[in-house]
Amino acid sequence: MSTISQITKNAAAAFEEYILVSNGARAAFLESIADNIEALGDALLEQANKETNLPIPRLQGERGRTCYQLRMFAAMLQKGDYVEACIDTAIPEKVPAKPDIRSMHFPIGPVVVFGASNFPFAYSTAGGDTASALAVGCSVIVKAHPAHLATSTLVATAIQKAIVGHRMPTHVFQHVTATDFEAGKALVQDEQIAAVGFTGSRNGGRALLDYANSRQHPIPVFSEMGSVNPVLLLEDSLQKEGASIAKNYAGSITLGVGQFCTNPGILIGVKSDALSNFATQLATEMNAVSPAPMLHAGIQKAYHENSRIALAQVGTINLTEKNPEVATAYPVLATVDGKAFLSNPLLADEVFGPYSILIQCDSITELQAVWVSLKGQISTTIMGTDKDFEQNPSILQKAFLLAGRVLLNGVPTGVEVCDSMVHGGPYPATTDSRFTAVGVRAAKRWLRPVAYQNWSNHLLPAALKNENPLNIFRTINGNLTKEKV
Ligand code: NAP
Repeated sequence: MSTISQITKNAAAAFEEYILVSNGARAAFLESIADNIEALGDALLEQANKETNLPIPRLQGERGRTCYQLRMFAAMLQKGDYVEACIDTAIPEKVPAKPDIRSMHFPIGPVVVFGASNFPFAYSTAGGDTASALAVGCSVIVKAHPAHLATSTLVATAIQKAIVGHRMPTHVFQHVTATDFEAGKALVQDEQIAAVGFTGSRNGGRALLDYANSRQHPIPVFSEMGSVNPVLLLEDSLQKEGASIAKNYAGSITLGVGQFCTNPGILIGVKSDALSNFATQLATEMNAVSPAPMLHAGIQKAYHENSRIALAQVGTINLTEKNPEVATAYPVLATVDGKAFLSNPLLADEVFGPYSILIQCDSITELQAVWVSLKGQISTTIMGTDKDFEQNPSILQKAFLLAGRVLLNGVPTGVEVCDSMVHGGPYPATTDSRFTAVGVRAAKRWLRPVAYQNWSNHLLPAALKNENPLNIFRTINGNLTKEKV
């Protein structure tokens, strides 16, 4: 077993080789990883099921998403525009003379990725962080999540097979299975490492940021941490659609035993008959959902403990029937009034699992006060009709102060993987609100801009050459075009 410093040295050496590999070759490499994962067949799904308790159909879907992401980043490479080439041609007659300056994105360097417990495929070994980093030319070290080490090792073999098949640098991907914080800390603090990707708890994500900031040369850490994804339930909407909203939200709160960072953990409404009916309907729907085991014993214990603490707070009532401490993860719908919520910051904390708390406010002013009291979020949702929005025009404008993604009339669970997706948000949802962890733009986390000044055309990289051999969109003297210079 190599030491951490040997692993990071290998990653740095592999990076220097890998930056010379063409976009087309990197795309073929990513596609081959996807093929190799699929070729692992049912054995991979069965192993993941054994380690995570996630049902096979969910794992099948997640494997599909993982392979889709790998192929999506391969397609991004084939298009080539992601380097955002920008060219300002020289103006010799200007005083002082303006030189020829061209810029594009360059890979940041060796990246450490921490696997997520709740996404054994899509946000672990060959998940979105790894796929996007390998796509843009970074070498990757994956710190496997201890809850699914064997699954992670199987996926690592699929990547290693693609490395051999495509003659990539041997250490462009390395898999670390040590299960202690010291290994993770040493990786983040090693001076060879240029960036970190993480999905998990707030404590974990923050710890990695602090390790990185205490290095001699600090580096960016892209931690995607917990979120309560607050939902505003406006009155006209509840009056018209209360029953169907309750049904949809029972499904969303309990989806995957509530183990999603987009789980709607806080619902906020103004006291009315419609809100009372909604609360009863939602509790009834949640009572009908069978309890299920969670990802691992630690998460299950934390769910019981955290929901027990929340329910013990002054003014908090359990609207669901089951005692969450009795057996596996029973869904819990708690409720509290707006004033009690505002005076107790603990109630705003995430309870990871099939839990949500309904805040019942005295007025729309109090509803907004509760909403904006919440810290940075991955998403926020507003259930409202045009009448609701006419009556409360400031609500739509305020939403982006809080969150990276704002949904109107939907549920926050189910994150589409596409060009326009934003899965990020202000701290503490993430450690860098300028980026997304899902979708094509997730690749930007692993890039830095570099400028070429006064370079002869034959020395420039293909993306910046006058003749535009890659036929990509470039900004030339302020205009986006595929033209030659
Ligand atoms: P976690 O405790 O944050 O651990 C995730 C990874 O980070 C593990 O590999 C762990 O290392 C590493 N890590 C955590 N703290 C560290 C530290 N101080 N120093 C070095 N490495 C550290 O997440 P988890 O095990 O998946 O679940 C725990 C809780 O996280 C859940 O109850 C839930 O609240 C939250 N969670 C949130 C999300 C989300 O979507 N944002 C997803 C999953 C979980 P080791 O391998 O050494 O243990």
